[in-house]
Amino acid sequence: MHLKRLTVRGFKSFASATTFDFERGVTAVVGPNGSGKSNVVDALAWVMGEQGAKNLRGGTMEDVIFAGTSSRPALGRAQVALTIDNTDGALPIAYTEVTISRTLFRSGGSEYSINDRPCRLLDIQELLSDSGLGREMHVIVGQGQLDRVLHATAQDRRGLIEEAAGVLKHRRRREKAYRK
Ligand code: ATP
Ligand code: MG
Repeated sequence: MHLKRLTVRGFKSFASATTFDFERGVTAVVGPNGSGKSNVVDALAWVMGEQGAKNLRGGTMEDVIFAGTSSRPALGRAQVALTIDNTDGALPIAYTEVTISRTLFRSGGSEYSINDRPCRLLDIQELLSDSGLGREMHVIVGQGQLDRVLHATAQDRRGLIEEAAGVLKHRRRREKAYRK
């Protein structure tokens, strides 16, 4: 499985539709401070189901919608689409290429789709949940987070590793079951 293409439109600093094609291997996004590199990473997290505005470096979810500049008015919606190569079948869906899309309207509503079929956020989260991608997975290491890992206590570090390995959700479930 690999991420093939990301298209953003009206998301944060990307007012016009902008497409990033990712080749296999390592991709580096370079540019001056404030040029939108981290916004690309935020777009990846968002389309994969991120629900925490703070994790997207904003105050409310509406902050992901292009807010306008001196030369360009604000937009009414943010849209991100991510195309994933699924030739290895890592995603439990019978398509070799899967495009997930998320739209947020300033008026409040949201739309989600998988391969152009409207769906719920939950469907996207479930599709990605066992693939190592998606919400609450430590596949995205933010600016400053590396320091946090290096300076964490042994116990916190164990938590991070367990979460990355997918053990934490099972441990939480077990603890919940014991409490009942
Ligand atoms: P650095 O190298 O400092 O980490 P960066 O390339 O990661 O910079 P980002 O944090 O991705 O930069 O982008 C910051 C820019 O995005 C700021 O100019 C900010 O005004 C702009 N921005 C963020 N949200 C919005 C929005 N909703 N509407 C318009 N612009 C936005
Ligand atoms: Mg940055």
